[in-house]
This record gives sequence, C-alpha cells and structure tokens, in this order.
Amino acid sequence: MNAEHVDVLIVGAGLSGIGAGCRLQQRCPDKTFAILESRGVSGGTWDLFRFPGIRSDSDMFTLCYPFRPWSGAQAIADGASILDYVRATAREHGIDRRIRYHHRVVGAEWSSGDACWTVEVERGDSGQTSQMTCGFLFTCTGYYRYDAAHTPELAGAERFGGPIVHPQFWPADLDVTGKRVVVIGSGATAVTMIPALARTAGHVTMLQRSPSYVISLPALDPLAGLLGRVLPQRLAYPVVRWKNVLLTLAIYDFSRRRPAGMKRLIRRALERRLPPGFDIDTHFTPRYDPWDQRLCLAPDGDLFEAIGDGRVSIVTDRIEALTETGLTLASGDVLDADVIVTATGLEMEPFGGIRLRVDERAVDLGAALVYRGMQISGVPNLAFAFGYANQSWTLGSDLTCEQVCRLLAHMDRRGYASCTPRRRDDVAAAPFADLTSGYVLRAVDRFPKQGPAEPWRREQNYARNLRSMRRAPLDDPALEFARRRQAVREAV
Ligand SMILES: Cc1cc2nc3c(=O)[nH]c(=O)nc-3n(C[C@H](O)[C@H](O)[C@H](O)COP(=O)(O)OP(=O)(O)OC[C@H]3O[C@@H](n4cnc5c(N)ncnc54)[C@H](O)[C@@H]3O)c2cc1C
Repeated sequence: MNAEHVDVLIVGAGLSGIGAGCRLQQRCPDKTFAILESRGVSGGTWDLFRFPGIRSDSDMFTLCYPFRPWSGAQAIADGASILDYVRATAREHGIDRRIRYHHRVVGAEWSSGDACWTVEVERGDSGQTSQMTCGFLFTCTGYYRYDAAHTPELAGAERFGGPIVHPQFWPADLDVTGKRVVVIGSGATAVTMIPALARTAGHVTMLQRSPSYVISLPALDPLAGLLGRVLPQRLAYPVVRWKNVLLTLAIYDFSRRRPAGMKRLIRRALERRLPPGFDIDTHFTPRYDPWDQRLCLAPDGDLFEAIGDGRVSIVTDRIEALTETGLTLASGDVLDADVIVTATGLEMEPFGGIRLRVDERAVDLGAALVYRGMQISGVPNLAFAFGYANQSWTLGSDLTCEQVCRLLAHMDRRGYASCTPRRRDDVAAAPFADLTSGYVLRAVDRFPKQGPAEPWRREQNYARNLRSMRRAPLDDPALEFARRRQAVREAV
C-alpha cells in the first residue's frame, strides 16, 4: 500500500506547530498538510508542565500569535490560560482537525530522486509503525525531551523519607500544605514555583549552588490596561506588542553593552524589594553578567514578598547528601525537608529525537549550520521552529512560519522541488546559543551550530530579523534550488 502523501508535514502540536498550521492555511491555502503529535493532547509545554504556579515568564502580548491577539491587560498569564489560548486558536482555525495524536515521528529520510521525505511514525496507542511522505518537513518539536528531565545524582536519595519530585513530572495529588519544602535550583522554574508553593507550605527553602539574576516586572501591563479602555483591540494590540518587543530588546541590549550598569539597576531594585540587611551578595549576585544566562522574572516581586514574609528562605550552598529527614550541605549545615523538588532543568534534545537521513546518509546535526534560524545546511526541504532566548518564543517561531510560507510560494512560482542551504567551507561554526546556562552547555554538541553573520546567524533581535527576513531575497547564493528529477542541481 502506498504511504499517504502531504505537501507539508508539521511535527508537533504545541504553540509552534499549531501556529505553523494556521500560517500555512492562511498563506499557502493550496498546500495539503497534516500535524503529527506524539502525545494524546495538544499544547506541548503548556500541557506537560503542571507544577504549582506554572506561568509565562515573558509577556503574553508577544507570546501570543500576532494573528490572534491576547486580550486583556494580564501580561503574565498562568499555564492553564496559555493552554486554553493555544487550543482555542487551533479550534477557531480548524487546525485541531489536522492533528493526528499518538503519532511519534522517529525517522525521516530524504530522497533527492523523488524530491520527498519518507517519514517513519510510531503509533503510541496501537504500537504500530507506519510511513508518510511529504514534500516539506516542518519540525515544531520544541527543544527538550518530554520523557526525561535533567536530574543530577543526589547522594543518599534512596534514604530520604519523603517524595522527591521534578517539576516536569509533578504528581497531581502532591499536597504540600504545612510541609517543609526544599526546592533545589535557581532558574526560572524555581523562581516561578516557590511563591506558589509558599502559599500553602509550612516553609519553602530555595537551595541553590549559585544565584541567578531575578528582576521584577508588573504582571498587569499598564499600557495595555489604558489603551484597552480607549481603543479597539485591533489598534491597541500592535502598540502594546511593539512596546514590549522594544522594551525587552532595550533591556537585553543595555545588559550586553553596559553589564555593570545593568547590575547596578538590578541591585537597587533588589534593595528596595528585600528586607533590610538581606544578603544580596550571596543570594542574588551571580558571578556572570546579566543575559550570559536568562534573567528570571518575579512578577510584582512575588518571590521577594514571600522572602519578606518569612515564608521563603534562600540557602546558597552545595549538597553533600540526602538523609532520612532532609539534606546535609557542604558548609556543614542541615536542612530539614518533608518534600524535595529538583528544579534542576530540562534535557535538551534537537528535532524531537527524529533521526534524519539525506540520500541514505545520516545527518550529523552537530556538524551542520543553521540557515536564518530555521533550515540546516545540507538538508533539503526542512525547516524547524525555534524561538528566542531573550524574547517570547512565538516571535521567533512565527517569523519562521512566515518565511517557510514565503519559501514554499517562491519554489512553486519557479517550479523548484527542493531547496538546500549550502554552507561554504570558510564559514566558522559557533555554538547555537550564546547562553552559558548548564542546560545549554550540556547540549551544544548535539545541536546544529551558527555562523558569525547572516544568513548563518540569527541575531537575538526580533525587530532586526523581521526586517531582514522580509527583505532578504530568496534567491540567496547560500540556497541551492533544484527541479524534480534534475540530475544537475541549479544554484541561483
Ligand atoms: C516551564 C516552561 C516555561 C516556559 N515559559 C516560557 C515563556 O514564558 N515565554 C516563552 O517565550 N517561552 C517559554 N518557554 C519555552 C516554551 O517551550 C515555548 O514558549 C513554547 O511553548 C514552545 O512551543 P513549541 O510548540 O515550539 O514546543 P513544545 O511546547 O515543546 O511542543 C512540542 C510538541 O512537539 C511534540 N513532539 C516532540 N517530538 C515529537 C516527535 N518526534 N514526533 C511527534 N511529536 C513530537 C511534543 O509532544 C509537543 O507537543 C517555557 C518553557 C518551559 C519548559
């Protein structure tokens, strides 16, 4: 039996995959497409993570799709509202009918002779395997594993008498009321969940090896509130969106250019928010510069308020071992705990673990270069959706969707069957992300690299990327186009 064929196959039904489906339907209405999703539900990250307090840490006016504005003044939204929003978008655009659940893509093989991908699918519900073919593969698989998280080995873990939980696998029935909770970690997840846990727990301790920068921003956007009262949404939304794009870029830019100035500003804000005499040097002053790693957000200063109320304390130390009743630390101190939360990070994974092959040769992702933040050198007719580290993910993924639609239309107009980014040998390769966070450093070898400049580098700057993507000619010498069954490739 012949495998089913679609023009475009989207992998993943999270924020990016659903956005990709909407964009494809809007801009390339003649293309057939399907979305394969390995889980039984849509929403990706916003369905998977269920820990107390799960919320956005970037503003919703830029995390939402530009074609379906976020309504209201709430800039920081809870996970359930984001999930509702993503699913409602899928329903309204009829994209939910295109999703095939329990379809995990495990491999994809490109044939230049047929100018198409053959995709291997494992069915999670029936255990069967099947194949599909497509002209263009668009992976919207996020950047981390769903079935595993990063948990460093903790000596004596088997001795601890209470539960040890990872935020990625939060047990629905875990009740922390009145309990002593120790959260190991100082990243965005720890900073998000600690104030929420502290609402019912007896006490929460944030146990960190080294501190992060934590800044406070209002959960409600004052400009959105004001404009929402006087302007229709179609006029108010672009203003608020661009204000947030530019404000985020300004903070990032200032941090990179004037790290000392940014450090001073962060410190002054901490001094205002934290109780007098609080040891900011030890607990909130990292050794690195702002934006060498992501800044953490405490909306309306919720973390600082919980510290001020005595519901949360911070310990900066190293774990020696777990005991029956808590943890012993390198300093010799002991922390009592009823529940331990390992907010120690994700396990990054490129392309949802899909094994890629081109004309019977395995693709070495770690040796490839990323073209315009969305294609891979040497791999035809494939794009991937990736967001920004310093701005909302959707700004990056939606820009990619726009560019994929532009590319598909260009190929149709010119009669091309394939498009392959070709890297020149003299383009130097660097890690794909400029961040020094542990979860990034652990994965750099397995992810494709970036070059020193466009088109082999996508700056962490949406405004600039938007301009250059829209203006960039598609007949770029770095792209090689070919017609179907054409023996000699045609480079334009
Ligand atoms: C706790 C947390 C909070 C975050 N907060 C923010 C925030 O505030 N702002 C922000 O911009 N970003 C945030 N992020 C980043 C976040 O991942 C993005 O916002 C966004 O949700 C990514 O969407 P995505 O669809 O690209 O990937 P995901 O949400 O990861 O969805 C990927 C989908 O692809 C499916 N999939 C993966 N591999 C395969 C395969 N081989 N076959 C079939 N299906 C597959 C998965 O099951 C999943 O449904 C956060 C991330 C985490 C973990």
